[in-house]
Amino acid sequence: MTSSYTSNIFSKIIKKEIPCKKIFEDENILSFWDIYPKARIHALVIPKLNCYNFESFIEKENIQNIGHFFSRVNFIATDILKLKDNFKLIINNGEKAGQEIFHFHVHILSN
Ligand code: AMP
Repeated sequence: MTSSYTSNIFSKIIKKEIPCKKIFEDENILSFWDIYPKARIHALVIPKLNCYNFESFIEKENIQNIGHFFSRVNFIATDILKLKDNFKLIINNGEKAGQEIFHFHVHILSN
């Protein structure tokens, strides 16, 4: 798998060029199951706006959309996945921090 392929994979999922196991979608975000789960429950949440990491998401988006995004993350974790009081959020920001896919995403994990 080349790096340009991996860096664009979530954009391709948004454009439905690559399939995913969808959990939730609205006009601004998409959530789906991680293909290589690191916990019993491992979901991903991505904005449809193309930004390569957390820093660029915060720089590009206005505060309302940032709030909407994290409110949706909470909704998916608590209402859809039923993980109230029992989940971990992870954001890997940058290659040195372990980021492999360069489209900003939040991991929701729970065992
Ligand atoms: P990160 O290391 O924070 O960039 O996380 C990238 C995550 O994307 C990893 O947990 C991968 O298992 C996951 N992943 C890679 N390709 C896919 C895919 N096609 N569908 C769902 N998850 C994926």
